[in-house]
Amino acid sequence: MSLATGSTIGIIGGGQLGRMLAIAAARLGYRTVVLEPQADCPAAQVANRQIAAPYDDPAALAELAASSSVVTYEFENVPVAAASALAAKVPVYPPTRALEVAQDRVSEKTFLNGIGIATAKFLPVDNDDELAAALNAFDGSGILKTRRMGYDGKGQRVFRNMKAGGFAGTCEAMGNVPLILESFVSFEREISVIAARGIDSAVAAYDPAENVHRSGILHTSTLPARIRPETAEAARAAASRILSALNYVGVVGVEFFVLADGSLLANEIAPRVHNSGHWTEAACIVSQFEQHIRAVAGLPLGNPQRHSDCVMENLIGDDVLRVPALLAEPDLMLHLYGKAEARPGRKMGHFTRISRRA
Ligand code: AMP
Repeated sequence: MSLATGSTIGIIGGGQLGRMLAIAAARLGYRTVVLEPQADCPAAQVANRQIAAPYDDPAALAELAASSSVVTYEFENVPVAAASALAAKVPVYPPTRALEVAQDRVSEKTFLNGIGIATAKFLPVDNDDELAAALNAFDGSGILKTRRMGYDGKGQRVFRNMKAGGFAGTCEAMGNVPLILESFVSFEREISVIAARGIDSAVAAYDPAENVHRSGILHTSTLPARIRPETAEAARAAASRILSALNYVGVVGVEFFVLADGSLLANEIAPRVHNSGHWTEAACIVSQFEQHIRAVAGLPLGNPQRHSDCVMENLIGDDVLRVPALLAEPDLMLHLYGKAEARPGRKMGHFTRISRRA
């Protein structure tokens, strides 16, 4: 049964992803309420209402449940206890299990390998001795990451051709939190697939985007990705397998490394709409944001087919000064997030340039 027009969708998290979800919800005739502690956040500027409280505040969660017909979220670090408490009262999509899997890089890779999706080799690391042993197992090269709460390349350290020893203090410098060492992947390129699963189990996957990062932050997503058709199909199939295994409802973003032989290693699952799917707004009839709202509202999924080639680029910090010049271009769709202050590294907006109409 689909959500009636005028129903309210709860969104946990008030950033730009929540903002674009709220806009898509409004276009489909729904109201939105955003749970976010920060006042005047990007999502609350366009939502019907904000509950300004921490994500784990019991009274705020009770209020969110009471005001919403369904609750979703725009970031993967929603406290699992908060999502479970909500799920006892109101449907929460994507399911809590998706949060559990995606919040810890070891559980994520264990889950992926368990359903036959290859990843980089990995070992959990809790102290400098385990780091030395893990690096030794990976021939002295690897990427050390925090298991939890890492994003945009934060909380990471690269080791290349390290000989034994010399690691004293590394784990302390990383904050004495649980870590993971991943083997270093010499990839040819990075791609991601945005896919959705409806309440009726239907799946729709967009074309893979080719992603370029700068200083750990997504810079561009280009469509089509320079990959073989078999590689694109394998990426879509992997995303579909992840969705079914999690009995998922909503949009997921799955990042992959493409190796020289065209094979894939999955890197990350984002149980939400994803920055590398922003291009869908401009190059598809149904964007990832609308697709997510359709899925959680029990509506039929939209057609994920791309009608144009395109490049999406993020506007980080002072890049936002380019806006007047960008707006003078034809075939360019701009989205700003309503953030007053352009701090370095802060995502201020993005644009998608349509390069060819199919
Ligand atoms: P992540 O936070 O896992 O998305 O990593 C951020 C970026 O670091 C990725 O997009 C890659 O460019 C790079 N990276 C992450 N893990 C690896 C790896 N195991 N081997 C090589 N590069 C990696």
